[in-house]
Amino acid sequence: MPSEVTEVDVVVVGAGQAGVAMSEHLGAHGIPHLVLERDRIAERWRTARWDSLVANGPAWHDRFPGLEFEGVAPDAFASKEQVADYFVAYAQKIGAPVRCGVEVTSVRRHTGRPGFRVETSQGPIDARFVVAATGPFQRPLIPPIVPDGAVPVQIHSHAYRNPGQLPEGAVLVVGAGSSGVQIADELRRSGRRVFLSVGPHDRPPRQYRGRDFCWWLGVLGLWDAETPPQGAEHVTIAVSGARGGHTVDFRELAADGIELLGLTASCADGVLRFAPDLAANIAAGDAKYLALLRAADAYVERNGLDLPQEPQAHVLGPEPDCVAHPRRELDLAEAGVTSIVWATGYATDFGWLEVDAFDPSGRPHQRRGVSAEPGVYFLGLPWQSRRGSSFIWGVWHDARHIADHIATQRAYLAHGGD
Ligand SMILES: Cc1cc2nc3c(=O)[nH]c(=O)nc-3n(C[C@H](O)[C@H](O)[C@H](O)COP(=O)(O)OP(=O)(O)OC[C@H]3O[C@@H](n4cnc5c(N)ncnc54)[C@H](O)[C@@H]3O)c2cc1C
Repeated sequence: MPSEVTEVDVVVVGAGQAGVAMSEHLGAHGIPHLVLERDRIAERWRTARWDSLVANGPAWHDRFPGLEFEGVAPDAFASKEQVADYFVAYAQKIGAPVRCGVEVTSVRRHTGRPGFRVETSQGPIDARFVVAATGPFQRPLIPPIVPDGAVPVQIHSHAYRNPGQLPEGAVLVVGAGSSGVQIADELRRSGRRVFLSVGPHDRPPRQYRGRDFCWWLGVLGLWDAETPPQGAEHVTIAVSGARGGHTVDFRELAADGIELLGLTASCADGVLRFAPDLAANIAAGDAKYLALLRAADAYVERNGLDLPQEPQAHVLGPEPDCVAHPRRELDLAEAGVTSIVWATGYATDFGWLEVDAFDPSGRPHQRRGVSAEPGVYFLGLPWQSRRGSSFIWGVWHDARHIADHIATQRAYLAHGGD
């Protein structure tokens, strides 16, 4: 017997922070909707991150406007569990109609009538509008460089939990965004020999003149930047809230014993080769760091703010030996490398969304989340409307725009009597 079809105005797919934000804004418009989540609310914060992860931004910043973190001081960094609990509490507070344990398996446009058929693990749903809020980081990417078996363990950062999970021996961490540097730092502190392959990155100061970098990026309008730096597909800001929060400084990582390497380029006969770009990557990161300090100083001056001077922040130490004379090859067995952790980012995966909302390369074809397929929306994509789009506070603002768009479309449809 065919399952009964549920009808609802809007189906939101995914109940991470994006789905919860979407629900809040749809609710504010009084728009009937369902949020379908295959696991639990904010599941990725609970089970797709390493054990010691804390938020990269302080609690006063990395949150939605409607609720403060309970039990976390505003300038402290919430643990990943506290972040997940926060979104559960938020969903409760706004009465979000979240259905957990429901996987969306396909979305197809109706023929000859408006709206979409949403097939789920618990039966079909008909919806006028669909919001894909399945996250900026869905499918872990590992570049096909090191063949299987070249080292005992190769994992992506999403599967890394703690140093004890890896076999004895040295570890190569590939990628020096927030995940790569934090994992390398944790492994080194656990006593491992660690190599870190460093690509292009941005490494703002954790604090400058008494203010967190989140504040500086906010007042300087940099979270609102609309265009990604050339070639940047996702935000590669190397920051850390670990150990109370600190500036990511590759000189310090090297001084702590982490050997820095250029981009991992190739592997043959158990020997890895690295691009000759390490010094250039570090220098470019330093230049952006110093530019932010200068922009902050100019802001202080222009606005006559009374913030303490911090001249020492402008002084960078000498180039570490591993940067001045970088290793270009690494014999994995000789160096005792038993694990590689690929902190090399993610791709999206919208295989279930069978509509005309993608460009020829398969990427979402959208503007500020409004897709090329009328009635289908994306939320939480990196750089969806601005730099902040995939972050906690940014997605909340993008969700408001989408809810406004849906409300306007509903008004048109209601006017026509459809
Ligand atoms: C290591 C790491 C640290 C980060 N730290 C911070 C930070 O400190 N501050 C910050 O602002 N941002 C941070 N981010 C970025 C961002 O906030 C997170 O990636 C966040 O999880 C994105 O939320 P989201 O709701 O967009 O997506 P997700 O959290 O990925 O949620 C999507 C949900 O959709 C569900 N789903 C997927 N497919 C289906 C389907 N077919 N049917 C039903 N449900 C489905 C998933 O189960 C998931 O729960 C971090 C990201 C990473 C990877």
